[in-house]
Amino acid sequence: MIPASFEYLAPKSLKEAVDFISSHSEDVKLLAGGQSLVPLMKLRLAKPRYIVDLGGIPDLNYIRDEGDRIAIGSLTTHTQIEESELLKKRCPLLPQTATTIGDVQVRNQGTIGGSLAHADPAGDMPAAILALGADIKAIGPNGERWIKAQDFFLGLLTSALEPDEILTEVRVPVLEKTKSAYLKAAQRASGFAVVGIAVCLTLHQDGTCEDIAIGVTGVGDKAYRAEGVENMLRGKRLEEKLLEEASVEIVNGQDVIEDINGSKQYRSHLARVYTVRAIQSALKA
Ligand SMILES: Cc1cc2nc3c(=O)[nH]c(=O)nc-3n(C[C@H](O)[C@H](O)[C@H](O)COP(=O)(O)OP(=O)(O)OC[C@H]3O[C@@H](n4cnc5c(N)ncnc54)[C@H](O)[C@@H]3O)c2cc1C
Repeated sequence: MIPASFEYLAPKSLKEAVDFISSHSEDVKLLAGGQSLVPLMKLRLAKPRYIVDLGGIPDLNYIRDEGDRIAIGSLTTHTQIEESELLKKRCPLLPQTATTIGDVQVRNQGTIGGSLAHADPAGDMPAAILALGADIKAIGPNGERWIKAQDFFLGLLTSALEPDEILTEVRVPVLEKTKSAYLKAAQRASGFAVVGIAVCLTLHQDGTCEDIAIGVTGVGDKAYRAEGVENMLRGKRLEEKLLEEASVEIVNGQDVIEDINGSKQYRSHLARVYTVRAIQSALKA
């Protein structure tokens, strides 16, 4: 299908982009990799009057070592994350997650900023970003602000970004002693998560769980942290029986999605199974 007509703008600076969207925010869509926006436009589910292409703005594509954090520009593609030696060494959860996204064409075009801003309830990056406790930088007409990953996803395709804000950077921690894993049951055609579980955990010297963070995608209308499961595991030895008991909490408080990929019951079961497997996989990392 062919999208409705629109005007295309290619700003050369962040200021130019922010100035434009702050005076036209109701009618504008930002374009990053186009992997989510363009299909929506082709189906005419999105009919923006203006498209503001972020591609010509310098300094939005980088992966930088900032000591105990790694800074990632919003236009960094899934492929760049997948192939980054810095991330593979110091924050392997992100490259591992990127590897599971769609296919090679999608990963070559799709960006981390677009994936987070789009807030797809089945997107992979939101789960990883939640487990990592990342910080997200937004720039708007009133300057910049930082949003915690846990406050970022508000609902179906809805993030904490204001309509006149641009996501410019994501900061993730360096995982020195942290073990991590991302596991998903993928929808066969698109690769999107029917259920995806991201885990970061640290162990005490005696082998008990010092801390654990679990990001979940595919289950509800937005990605979320599984605090009920986390609370049951802190301070304990992560043995299979305990993991199975705790995993029952994974969908607690969620209105579990029911669609062509699975009933509520099937998805809840998958979420429990993948929680146990993802934690066991992190323990082996
Ligand atoms: C066939 C196919 C398979 C896919 N499979 C998967 C999968 O398995 N897992 C997965 O997670 N994803 C999957 N995707 C989606 C993919 O990850 C996209 O890259 C991602 O959802 C959007 O990133 P983008 O850069 O393409 O954003 P765009 O499509 O350009 O933009 C998406 C939305 O975010 C907004 N936006 C973009 N950048 C910014 C910014 N910097 N600041 C503020 N707003 C912004 C846009 O205005 C738009 O509303 C798939 C896509 C396709 C087409």
